[in-house]
Amino acid sequence: MSEIFSTIASAISTAKKLKELSDKARDAEFKNLVADLHLQLAETKTQLADLMQDNTRLKDKIRSLESVQCDPCPSCRKPGWHVEKSERDSLFGEVGGIRRTYKCSFCGFSEEKLVTK
Ligand SMILES: [Zn+2]
Repeated sequence: MSEIFSTIASAISTAKKLKELSDKARDAEFKNLVADLHLQLAETKTQLADLMQDNTRLKDKIRSLESVQCDPCPSCRKPGWHVEKSERDSLFGEVGGIRRTYKCSFCGFSEEKLVTK
């Protein structure tokens, strides 16, 4: 996301340079176009900032909704401990062994556990 901001900042900088050039130019239509471009870029930057705020808010909401059903992580104790992967164990699969990978959605701590029924 920060790449988008630097791209827009760069575009605004280019538009400013164009505006400086257009101030020296005589063509009124060219000046108006550059001014419009400058305004549109500034508006885009504002809209993007709003969008990023929404995005962050939604990510937080998803994380809190997911964590409601999770157990506490053995490493950081936050409620983000969940099954990331569950597959037949390569060694004990013949006798019903299942290898589960648990992962914390907060700190990333991960652990595997062999489950037999
Ligand atoms: Zn954790």
